[in-house]
Amino acid sequence: MSLRLRLTIIYSALTGGILLLLGVVTTTLISISLISQTDEMLAQTVNKIVANMYVDPRGGPTVFLPQLNPAENVYVQIWDTQGKLVSASPGLGSFKEPLDPVGLQAGKTIYRDVYISQGHLRTLSMTVVLGGHPFVVIQAATSLSLLDATLRNLVNILVGMTLFATLLAALASWFGVGQALAPLKTVTAAALQITRADDLSRRIPYRGQDNDEVGQLIYAFNETLERLEKLFLSQQRFLADVSHELRTPLTVIKGNADLMRRMKSLDEESLTSIKDEADRLTRLVGDLLLLTQAESGKLPLDFKPVELDTLLLDVSKEMHVLARERVQLKVTEIDQIQVNGDRDRLKQVLLNLVSNAIKYTPQGGEVFLSLSKVGGQARLIVRDSGPGIPAEDLPHIFERFYRAEKSRTRSESGGFGLGLSIANWIITHHGGRIEVNSQEGKGTTFCIWLPLFSVQ
Ligand code: ADP
Repeated sequence: MSLRLRLTIIYSALTGGILLLLGVVTTTLISISLISQTDEMLAQTVNKIVANMYVDPRGGPTVFLPQLNPAENVYVQIWDTQGKLVSASPGLGSFKEPLDPVGLQAGKTIYRDVYISQGHLRTLSMTVVLGGHPFVVIQAATSLSLLDATLRNLVNILVGMTLFATLLAALASWFGVGQALAPLKTVTAAALQITRADDLSRRIPYRGQDNDEVGQLIYAFNETLERLEKLFLSQQRFLADVSHELRTPLTVIKGNADLMRRMKSLDEESLTSIKDEADRLTRLVGDLLLLTQAESGKLPLDFKPVELDTLLLDVSKEMHVLARERVQLKVTEIDQIQVNGDRDRLKQVLLNLVSNAIKYTPQGGEVFLSLSKVGGQARLIVRDSGPGIPAEDLPHIFERFYRAEKSRTRSESGGFGLGLSIANWIITHHGGRIEVNSQEGKGTTFCIWLPLFSVQ
């Protein structure tokens, strides 16, 4: 069953149910009120008769009754204790039966609904006691046919109005819900189109209000599409980058192998080249594995207290080999600082930043390292006097496989553009951040911020 039909049924049933309940309550209240007015009128008539009634003391049991003058639609009978009709209102004509046989025997004042062949009556039977003994029973009755007819008309009107209102509610909800749900059809159609066309760049248009439910749904859906598109594009780019990076070393290896086969001898230079490229491939595969593990959340970080100053000195010592006489590597400031982290991963970040600084700084340049406590955080700086990173490349250097234009052209010596994205992941997962500042021709400064070690 469609949502539209379901909602229409629910709304109509609710409207019908509420109106029906109101109808029942109204009819009952009106009926109770009319009956109580009728009872009041019967009681007044009987009380008036009782007030005017007296017994002749000389004539023994002879009873003198007042002149009966009941209202036109009220009938009165007076019965003695032997069950003999003593008097009756003229409107009763030849009707000699008790108006209410049960009330006659009741021995007390009683109101009843009585059905006789002439119609529906409301009766009041009252036993009048004289000298401690029942004297007469007065019965007053009035026809309820007018009241019944009124109530029947009321019920008919209410039922008719309920049916009409329910029908109106059904129509209104059918069209209203239809109109409200119409944009969903557009969403469904657009979603299907996107799936069929395999085109994640499409978005669902919506002309309604952004903050209504459908607007929010479309917004969320478009956001999901945006994210999917980004993921899809980055996956495509990643695959293209990986294939590209694999191709160069493989071509070199194949070329050298072919050369040796043709020469029918082992060539030392070719073997070195093959080994270098194989090393490069191993590094690439290692980096890729690390990055995939990191991004899928499967790279475990072994958090322990780490002496950052000792770590920086270790890295500086190791990197002196790479810097040799070409570049001056200096530690300018070093505070004793402990952080909570994975020592090997933090070392990997430092090695990457320092080796980049050395790698990209030309002969005679300088690389400065410093570690200090600033604003309750550890600040680690790697600054070089190299060529700097072009402003247009700067926002992208933490992306996978991104290499600034200049370094891309000399990729023989350069890396794969994975180091900084791995470093960024590691620092972010230590609760810190990496900042970069660079001016072309003046040098580059990488700044790592890490929270200080604290016992939790
Ligand atoms: P790579 O292995 O290519 O160095 P990274 O992710 O470590 O990869 O660096 C990404 C890019 O950022 C590099 O290709 C280079 O263009 C640029 N870069 C990083 N560090 C420096 C630096 N100190 N000086 C100039 N450019 C740098």
